[in-house]
Amino acid sequence: MGTSLKEDDIERQKVLTVAYRPKVKYAWATGIAIGRFLMGLRAGEILGTKCEHCGRVVVPPRTFCEWCFKESNTWVKLPDTGIVNTFSICYITADTTRVKTPLIPAVIGIDSTTNAGFLHLIGGVKPEDVRIDMRVKAVWLDASERKGSITDIKYFTPLK
Ligand SMILES: [Zn+2]
Repeated sequence: MGTSLKEDDIERQKVLTVAYRPKVKYAWATGIAIGRFLMGLRAGEILGTKCEHCGRVVVPPRTFCEWCFKESNTWVKLPDTGIVNTFSICYITADTTRVKTPLIPAVIGIDSTTNAGFLHLIGGVKPEDVRIDMRVKAVWLDASERKGSITDIKYFTPLK
């Protein structure tokens, strides 16, 4: 049993506070499908999987087809082009920093897939010019800078 804090204790800083920055290191397994997808990005390729039962092609790749409930282990190299399925214009970053030049996160439907795509950024275009169904193409980091991450693609830009 302790002593309850009162509002005044906090306002007058009678409460001891300690700034602590934990040194936490962590790792995780990507899994078979996402691991191969990330290695593809490092090589400058977008890889998906195709279900041999229904023909559906998806990205990010999966090892099963949720339409058929069957294995989906046929790998396909996809084009780095697609369409903007939806987008937003954000003046606040993920870490809540305000920005004057907005970020434009979008769901990109990658060509040759069946209702499948991923979230990424739109760039190289004025926010007011972005449209749903706009055709876009990946802008990649230089090969020497790629790490096997979705950010190996800098952004998607309108296809000219
Ligand atoms: Zn299927």
